Amino acid sequence: MKVYNTLTRKKEEFIPIEKGKVKMYVCGPTVYDYIHIGNARPYVTFDTVRRYLEYKGFEVTYIQNFTDVDDKIIKKANDENTTMEVISNRYIEECFKDADGLNVKRASHHPRVTEEMDHIIEMIAELIEKGHAYEVDGTVYYDTKSFPEYGKLSRKNLDELIAGASERVEIDSAKKNPTDFVLWKPFKPGEPKWQSPWGEGRPGWHIECSVMAKRYLGPTIDIHAGGEDLIFPHHENEIAQSEACNCAPFAKYWLHNGFITIDNEKMSKSAGNFFTVRDIASQFPYEVIRFFILNGHYRSPINFSRDLMEACQNGLERIKNCKKDLEYYIENCKEETAKSIENTEDIERFRNEFEEAMDDDFNTADAVTAVYELVRFINKNSKENVSKDFAEKEMDMLKTLTGILGIAENISNSENDEDVSKIEELIAKRAEAKKNKDFASADAIRDELSAMGITIKDTRQGVQWFRS
Ligand code: AMP
Ligand code: ZN
Repeated sequence: MKVYNTLTRKKEEFIPIEKGKVKMYVCGPTVYDYIHIGNARPYVTFDTVRRYLEYKGFEVTYIQNFTDVDDKIIKKANDENTTMEVISNRYIEECFKDADGLNVKRASHHPRVTEEMDHIIEMIAELIEKGHAYEVDGTVYYDTKSFPEYGKLSRKNLDELIAGASERVEIDSAKKNPTDFVLWKPFKPGEPKWQSPWGEGRPGWHIECSVMAKRYLGPTIDIHAGGEDLIFPHHENEIAQSEACNCAPFAKYWLHNGFITIDNEKMSKSAGNFFTVRDIASQFPYEVIRFFILNGHYRSPINFSRDLMEACQNGLERIKNCKKDLEYYIENCKEETAKSIENTEDIERFRNEFEEAMDDDFNTADAVTAVYELVRFINKNSKENVSKDFAEKEMDMLKTLTGILGIAENISNSENDEDVSKIEELIAKRAEAKKNKDFASADAIRDELSAMGITIKDTRQGVQWFRS
C-alpha cells in the first residue's frame, strides 16, 4: 500500500511503526459554528482511510481533537452574552450530528483543550526547560531558531520566512525571531483563564495537538492528517514542538486533503463563500455529501456545484437500487436456477480493482469506479437468474466495498419522489394552517413530520427540511 507523504513529497510504502497497529491523529475543528462542507472533507476522507486500514486488518487508534479555546469562540460567547463553554458544547454537539449524518465513525477519543490544560502547561514548561521556548511578560514563545529543522514539512527556509515575515506571521516586538509563535498568552479581561507558572492565561493554538497526540498515541505516530492549509504554520509548529520536546520523530506519514472550492476559490468562513453541511443536508441526503467528497481523489481540489451533487445523487441511487434489487432477488430466487457458468473469481475481480485503487494513495475516485463496475455486473447477472449462493456472494462483495466507502448502507431509507412530495405536501399544509392562525394543526403536522424522521426549520427564505 502506497501513501503520499507531504514530508517527503513522495508516494511511500506504508509500513506502520508497530506491526498490525496504526496510530492516527487528525486535526479537528474549532467549535464556534456549524461545520461547512470544506471542513467535512477531512472528516470523510480520513474516516475512509481509517475504514480501509481496518479492512486491511490494522488495529487503528484514531484521535481527533476539538479546539474549544479560541478567539472566535470567545467572541461568539461575548456576543451572545454567555460562556465559551456554552458555545463550544453547543457546536460540538452539532458537529457530531453532522459527522453522524455523514457516517463518520467516532474517533477512539475526542480530546478537548479545556480538558488537557495541565498537560499543555507541562509540555510548555518542558520546552522552556530544554531551551526551545522563552517567556516575555507572561507570554511564552517557541524559539524557532532553536529547532534547526524548522520548515522541513512546508519546505520553507527560515531566513526567507523571516525576511517575508510581515505577510505570514504575527509581528510582535517581544519575539526573538519573527517566526517564533505563541505557546501561552496572558489573560485579557473578558477572556477565560487558567493558572500557569507564567501567570493567568490560556494556550496558543498549536500546542494542543502536540500534547494530545503524545497523550493518546505516544511520542511517535504513524499518520498525522488534516487539510492542506494546516501544513504551514500549524503542522510545521506541531513538529517543532513535539520533536524538540520528545527528542523523537513526530509523525511518519503526513497526509493532507486538498480544498473544496467555490468558483475555484477555497471555501472558508472568513471569505464568506461557504455552505454549511447542515444547509446542504436540507437539500440532499447526508450520504450524497459523503459520496460527493469520495468521488474525487483526496489531494485534488473539488469545485462544489449543484450539478455535481445531483450527479452524485444519481450515482448513489444506482448503487442503492442494485443493492435493493439484489436483496429482493436473494429473498425470492429459486435454488434450481443455479448456473454452471458461475465463477467466484468473476466477483473477486472487483475487490482486486478496488484494492488496487485504494492501495494507490487511497484513490477513492477509482475505487468508486470499481463499485460501479460491480453494480453493472450484478445488474446483468441477477437478471439471468444466478443461484442464491452466487447472489449472496455478489451481495457480500457489494456490502464490503460500499462499507469501506461508508455509503449506501441503509437502502430502506432511500429517498424517493413519493417521500419527497409527501413531505412537501405536509409542509405546505402547515404553512396554510399557520397563515390561518390554526397553530394546533400546524404543531400536529410538525409532529407528524418529526415521527417520519423529518426536522423542519423556519427560515427567512422559507421552510427548510432535513432528515434527522
Ligand atoms: P478549521 O476549523 O478551519 O481549523 O478547519 C477544520 C479542518 O477543515 C482542517 O483540517 C482544515 O484544513 C479543513 N478545511 C477548512 N476549509 C477547507 C476547504 N475549503 N476544503 C478542504 N478542507 C478544508
Ligand atoms: Zn493540529
